[in-house]
Amino acid sequence: MKLTEFYIPTLREAPAECDTVSSKLMFRAGMIRKLASGIYEWLPLGLRVLKNVENIIREEMNAIGGLEVWLPHLLPSNIWIETGRWYIYGKELFRLKDRKDADFCLSPTAEEVITDLIRNELRSYRQLPKMFYQFGTKFRDEIRPRFGVIRAREFYMKDAYSFHKDEQDAERYYKEVFEAYCKIFRRCGLKFIAVEATTGAIGGKFSHEFMVIKDEDKNFVGEETIVYCTTCSYSANIEKAECVYNETPKKETKLFKELQEVYTPNMKTVEEVSNFLNEPAEKFIKTLVYIGNNKEVYVVLIRGDYEVNETKLKEVIGINEIELASHEIVETIFGIPVGFLGPVGLKPINKSYQVRVIADKSIMTIPDAISGANKTDFHLKNINYLRDYMVDEVVDIRKITADDLCPKCKNINSLKFSKGIEVGHTFKLGVKYSKSMNATFLDETNKEQYFVMGCYGIGVSRVVAAAIEQNNDENGIIWYPEIAPFTVYLLPIDYNDKYIKELTDKVYEMLKRHKVETLLDDRDERPGVKFKDADLIGLPLRITVSKKLPSEHLELRRRLDGKVEVVYINTLIEKIQENIVYLKNF
Ligand SMILES: [Zn+2]
Repeated sequence: MKLTEFYIPTLREAPAECDTVSSKLMFRAGMIRKLASGIYEWLPLGLRVLKNVENIIREEMNAIGGLEVWLPHLLPSNIWIETGRWYIYGKELFRLKDRKDADFCLSPTAEEVITDLIRNELRSYRQLPKMFYQFGTKFRDEIRPRFGVIRAREFYMKDAYSFHKDEQDAERYYKEVFEAYCKIFRRCGLKFIAVEATTGAIGGKFSHEFMVIKDEDKNFVGEETIVYCTTCSYSANIEKAECVYNETPKKETKLFKELQEVYTPNMKTVEEVSNFLNEPAEKFIKTLVYIGNNKEVYVVLIRGDYEVNETKLKEVIGINEIELASHEIVETIFGIPVGFLGPVGLKPINKSYQVRVIADKSIMTIPDAISGANKTDFHLKNINYLRDYMVDEVVDIRKITADDLCPKCKNINSLKFSKGIEVGHTFKLGVKYSKSMNATFLDETNKEQYFVMGCYGIGVSRVVAAAIEQNNDENGIIWYPEIAPFTVYLLPIDYNDKYIKELTDKVYEMLKRHKVETLLDDRDERPGVKFKDADLIGLPLRITVSKKLPSEHLELRRRLDGKVEVVYINTLIEKIQENIVYLKNF
């Protein structure tokens, strides 16, 4: 492709609102433009990458027996009412009415459509298993679209649905899909981990999130934090990571010191009191007050240097929303300012308040702990669990830290953290949808059975952004060969020069013959501009044609590490192939 016949409107600066490296580079490299919040246009260069990713996915889905279909995106409400999701999906579902005032929605996912199709089509166990998949636009009315195409309101997705005669077969197939997903993301050049996940709004028995990660990079975006072990295979969303406690509670109370009140004027934080008393934060008990959406009051106790994991807390309580009580509310309930609350003798001033005290397991093992004295400007020393206070329950509600043991192999110092971008999600659904939509088939004994289902998604547009987010430098994008929009950037220093033009055209024709996708920069621009754009667009290899090189020789440069070779034209194809193999294995 000649650049003058193509369209790559590169920009020196990204629009100010771009909040991630990938969105900046996608704008600057002329891959995307924005129409409205969370709604993007894909320009020719961007679309080439999107289509490369799509083709990799298609090949791997076909390889495990997937059948491609195309399902509508405009969906009548009746099938959504059948599964109940019309009511529980909330505001993320784009809803609309037709001219007859009938309710519709724009597809955020297609379990209902496919289950409706299948219940009318497949009748016998002999037709099973079957997996159908599609590529298409999906819609989600995000409360806060951000990170460019990563969290958009309209996005491009591959969704797949499998139907099985029993649980056993669904599980066998789930593993096949899992392997296919690993292949897909490896072929896209992504570093990722598959994390066991909660099933959320889609529901079902178990599921995995495929997260693109980048360790040691604080700027890496991603809405989830992943913890993983460098010794064993353990990985989890930080929200779910269980904390292992290696100490057993100390039960001998007689060795502990007597309770002692200390004057701590105006010192409200663990840090202030810990400095003042010269005691480490791990000797403290933090006392936090939460209010649930059920209006109940929860007092949460946790070791001074730990943080509460609100996801775990909500699970323990069994409610959806919880928030820290404001200073005013705390004073109203307990008559004591925030900062001086503690577990010993804590009571609401008014009996009408229902208070439940939930302690993290970490408090059990602190001997002679320090906490608020439930008295303004005072703290209490030598507090011991069971001797001085009781709680309603002791559970794991803290955030895992780098100092924790691996929950699986119990190794110390082997946990690492990374932000993660979710690019794929697999669910073993069971009969959740087939049951609610009464989708059945006849088994070997002629009995009606519900289909056992699985569903499997990949955010195709998200994969593109995640690949850029993971592989870039200060000059631009660094494409992995299989998804790169072109393989070679052919850069004549001066296309008006007779020798350079002839050699460039010769190379271009040769590359075409060998099916090496090439972008020829035939613009009448200064070399500096061309070099900058070549780096920004980030094709795996650059070939420079210049008079400074020996006759019929070219400069071959790898974008990844800047390695340069001077290559004779007759060995060029061979050298390109060698480099591609190197880059794919990198
Ligand atoms: Zn481990």
